[in-house]
Amino acid sequence: MDRSLAGLTQRRARRSEPVQRENALIEITELYKFYGEQRAVGPLSAKIERGEIVGLLGLNGAGKTTTLRILSCDLLPSSGTVVVDGDDVVERPDAVRAKIGYLPDTPPLYPEMTVRAYLRFVAALRGVAPAQLAAAVVDAARQTGLEAKLDDTIETLSHGYRQRVGIAQAIVHRPALVVLDEPIAGLDPVQIMEMRELIRGLRGAHTVLLSSHILSEISETCDRLFVLKDGAIVAQGTEAELSAALLGGMRVEVQVRGDADLPRLLAELAEVTEVRAAGTPEPGVHAWTVHARQDVRERLCQELVRAGVPLVGLSRGERELEAIFERLVTAPAATAPTRPEPGVAALGEAS
Ligand code: ATP
Repeated sequence: MDRSLAGLTQRRARRSEPVQRENALIEITELYKFYGEQRAVGPLSAKIERGEIVGLLGLNGAGKTTTLRILSCDLLPSSGTVVVDGDDVVERPDAVRAKIGYLPDTPPLYPEMTVRAYLRFVAALRGVAPAQLAAAVVDAARQTGLEAKLDDTIETLSHGYRQRVGIAQAIVHRPALVVLDEPIAGLDPVQIMEMRELIRGLRGAHTVLLSSHILSEISETCDRLFVLKDGAIVAQGTEAELSAALLGGMRVEVQVRGDADLPRLLAELAEVTEVRAAGTPEPGVHAWTVHARQDVRERLCQELVRAGVPLVGLSRGERELEAIFERLVTAPAATAPTRPEPGVAALGEAS
């Protein structure tokens, strides 16, 4: 018996137990997906709460698309369970589909249709009542900034607008969960900013799970990140938690006007471990790099204002996020975290 069948048979034997409805909207338990002998996903366990915006982050081939396709009932798991709002993706795929809006990496658009006709068509397919269709289309267009494009043909739209149509089709039936596979891929910097805004705007009405292979593209948008490597979760948490756990703290870049002695001024802050001069970015302005055990941005701001130092810039170290990600996904398996620490899950032990 091949692995997929063996897994499903075991799963069906366990299926006599009722699915426990918990507060989590998604509960993934010991999920595996094999293509022949090749493991694409697993072991993968995770819970996602209602209303969260969660990012699935991993290099190409880490298993993001496979995981999202299983969650969206587009692909069967080899073993393990995935439960969405109390419904199992294998046992009750139609119930799960009704609760999910899915934007695949290649959006299923019909180029010759207008945006309005296309969204109406998709909404009807997903079971929106005929009397509600027009309102559902207008609502989805409003949420995605497409009102002015409703009567344009899809083939005349830019890549950024087509991506919006892809998101509009995912939300038109007002699903509890919106799954977006690489929604930011191929967008220019302005479109990326607009897409971040759009996704953040879905918060509240939907739980959102999105994937990316570029940390900086999604870290600002997501409440929590799962880092996927070789099909398993190697770390999870907020950006600050990942930073604290993996880099031993946070690096902040500070720019002040004048020649204030920052090492002396900040010596009293217990969280700060090092203050180093970082050049003169413009005449009269001095840059400093502050290392701290945790997120000290607000404390720094208060201290400098209190001391009367003219603060002209304060931000997280730019390379820091990339350093976290690189460290996680390039670590050889033997040195990958094996015991849960704050923000770092052992392989397959994320919850
Ligand atoms: P990308 O960002 O490149 O799409 P990903 O993180 O989404 O990567 P997946 O597409 O899920 O990763 O692929 C995970 C692994 O499974 C890869 O090694 C991939 O080659 C393999 N894989 C995916 N689809 C198939 C398939 N239909 N048949 C065989 N192997 C596959």
